[in-house]
Amino acid sequence: MAFDRVVGHDRQRQRLMNAVAQDRLAHGYLFCGPPGVGAEALAIELACAVNCESGPGEPCGQCRHCRRIRALQHPDLHLLVPSSSAPPPDRPSGRGEGSSSRGDARQERRMGLAFQLADDPYAALPFGSNDILSVDDVRSLRKDASAKPFEGRRKVAVIVAADRMNTAASNALLKTLEEPPGSLMLILTASRSQRLPPTIVSRCQPVFLARLREADVKAALIERYDIDPEEAGDLARRSEGRLSEALTARSERGAGLREEAFILLECIYDATPLRLFEQVESLAASHRDEPVMDKILDHLLALYRDLFILDTTGGSSTLSYTERVDALRALASGMDLEDIENGIAAIEEARRDIARNAHVQLALLVLVLRLRLKRGSEASRQSPSHQTPSRQSPSRRTPSDETPPHALPAAD
Ligand SMILES: [Zn+2]
Repeated sequence: MAFDRVVGHDRQRQRLMNAVAQDRLAHGYLFCGPPGVGAEALAIELACAVNCESGPGEPCGQCRHCRRIRALQHPDLHLLVPSSSAPPPDRPSGRGEGSSSRGDARQERRMGLAFQLADDPYAALPFGSNDILSVDDVRSLRKDASAKPFEGRRKVAVIVAADRMNTAASNALLKTLEEPPGSLMLILTASRSQRLPPTIVSRCQPVFLARLREADVKAALIERYDIDPEEAGDLARRSEGRLSEALTARSERGAGLREEAFILLECIYDATPLRLFEQVESLAASHRDEPVMDKILDHLLALYRDLFILDTTGGSSTLSYTERVDALRALASGMDLEDIENGIAAIEEARRDIARNAHVQLALLVLVLRLRLKRGSEASRQSPSHQTPSRQSPSRRTPSDETPPHALPAAD
């Protein structure tokens, strides 16, 4: 199979390899699909295929071109990664050495993100809402890419998360797409292609990448990341067809977010509105530069799906939070199926709102208050605090903790 470093997407890989072999590659490609399904991995491999010493064709992975392109260090590979003045991903905020200027900070963050990608093209890049591609980024790409290839056959520009371009950047890129300098091939990756201007989309050949099969994610985790089959199966089941998602879930940070989502669920069920508010605040404060709210919503959805499974089938073999089965079973026993279904619908609505650019923290706050109201009827009949092991957030108790729900701004 062509591009064997890429997981899944057999048809798309074959189609691209045919184009390489027959020398009829387009000038612009748009690889779009959910984050973490391998758009960047495929883009990097395509750049290798074009420039491999034994090619053009299947990348050998060994020659100087393949090795340097995979390390994102090739002079004919131009990588554009959105960035902001937030600290690089390996250095959490507050611990920075401090950059001399905003431009330096952006550059430092960009390099940090690129290193992650070079290390593993399936790494989930922790983009925040301020990480964007600016017009200067696109202009500098055009300048660098207009020269003839230095060493390879063809210059390739990979624009990661192209849906993070602002309008000025899009306009500048449009010019480059209309008149690509020299033999430049542009590959845009995007998880939200609807955010790209139609003028950009129409000038690219689209390659749609679907979610990966669970079996493919599991096999990749075992073969490439040396994860034992049982854990790999568990991670694959929770990954929603996104390899990067499985890898994030396995990391310390991923495990922490998973736990935080569970604590949030307990707060929804158990705590006063004020405590719930504090929990959302503390989540936001401790992850200021990371887009973790989306992730928390994913975990919350997984928890509600678990409640649904426990309420309808009682079985626990397909749960996402298998380690919390007892606590979840206790919660499910106190909820109507309708409440759970409404909860799932509310979470999905919040996800759509966030995708449409709603204020993320506010959307999460409104959601948790709605979820709290939806569980209201049952909670008033019984005291769930006896059912779940108490793993409350560290927020302090204050007298106003006893504020009744109706004293808060209406959630819906
Ligand atoms: Zn090679």
